[in-house]
Amino acid sequence: MIKYRYQINNTTYKCIYFKFLVTETPHFFKTFICETLGLNPYSFKKRNGEYYIENHHVIPRAKLESGSLSTNNLLTVCANHHRQIHYGNVELLENTNDYFVYSIDGKNIKIKKYNG
Ligand SMILES: [Zn+2]
Repeated sequence: MIKYRYQINNTTYKCIYFKFLVTETPHFFKTFICETLGLNPYSFKKRNGEYYIENHHVIPRAKLESGSLSTNNLLTVCANHHRQIHYGNVELLENTNDYFVYSIDGKNIKIKKYNG
């Protein structure tokens, strides 16, 4: 079980990765691109009451690059933004130890990250 955190606008979101992404409370089932764009950060609720989320591997797992399986490489996103990252007008501009910067339809968003 691995814990990791994201920080957006000085709010820290803690997540625990254990086979599937689960978190301590439904409050943490946020989708970070939606959140950063000022959209509703919660997707639909599943039958078990948890909010639906998907994990995007920023460095594709298929490339098997160093770090691609690390939690530092995971971004919690909604299904729509997940598809958009793969098929839409989205570019990863920066991927540092501290944050991701994406360009999404020409708008840059920065998502802070750190392991903790
Ligand atoms: Zn989204």
